[in-house]
Amino acid sequence: MRKLAAGNWKMNGVEADLAEVDALVSAHRTPRCEMLLCPPATLISRMAARATGDLFIGAQDCHAQASGAHTGDISAAMLVDAGATHVILGHSERRADHGETDAEVRAKAEAALAAGLVAIVCVGETEAQRDAGQTLEVIGGQLAGSVPEAATARTTVIAYEPVWAIGTGRTPTLEEIAEVHAFLRAGLAKRFGDAEGFRLLYGGSVKPSNAGEIFAVANVDGALVGGASLKAADFGAIVEAL
Ligand code: PGA
Repeated sequence: MRKLAAGNWKMNGVEADLAEVDALVSAHRTPRCEMLLCPPATLISRMAARATGDLFIGAQDCHAQASGAHTGDISAAMLVDAGATHVILGHSERRADHGETDAEVRAKAEAALAAGLVAIVCVGETEAQRDAGQTLEVIGGQLAGSVPEAATARTTVIAYEPVWAIGTGRTPTLEEIAEVHAFLRAGLAKRFGDAEGFRLLYGGSVKPSNAGEIFAVANVDGALVGGASLKAADFGAIVEAL
């Protein structure tokens, strides 16, 4: 399985920032891993037009329905039409800012798979949940609730992102990451039979200086990177660490 370096630009990026995409593409023509950038929806088609080779372009959300009266929303088929191949779903910022539930994330993932997108489903505990010893219970619930029955290793990626590690510069210990990723692998195996091919990403304050040690952890098949994905030099260094 090839590893995946995925960048989540969140609500950042305008035309001028596309120079970073050109820099990334020209510096990494034959990366060992797959590269993915998920810009705001406004940049998807422009970014896709510049992406070549092993750089894929994705979105940060989609609606669960194919079309209709949903002002401001974007369907999975529209993302495909814009040039996206992947979509991040159930990011903790969407779960927090938009009250997305596991059931809603699952419905969105079903729509994404039906449209031919790879769904990157995010799970992760809050700091209070970790302190209360509920990490595996919370993640197990999110995994069961958010990942659709139709998921396959080829079409679905799971991202473990502890909420308290996102944008904070703090990360779990390597042992803690290993524990959660082994738990995810086992949970997928129980549900889908064979879980070896599912890519499990770690996300939360991944940067060039810690990427190597995190990628060496068992069952870590790549990363979902926020802040450090905005600059080609930083993201490129993470790509190299894979
Ligand atoms: P961060 O964000 O790398 O800036 O911590 C990760 C994410 O939210 O995907």
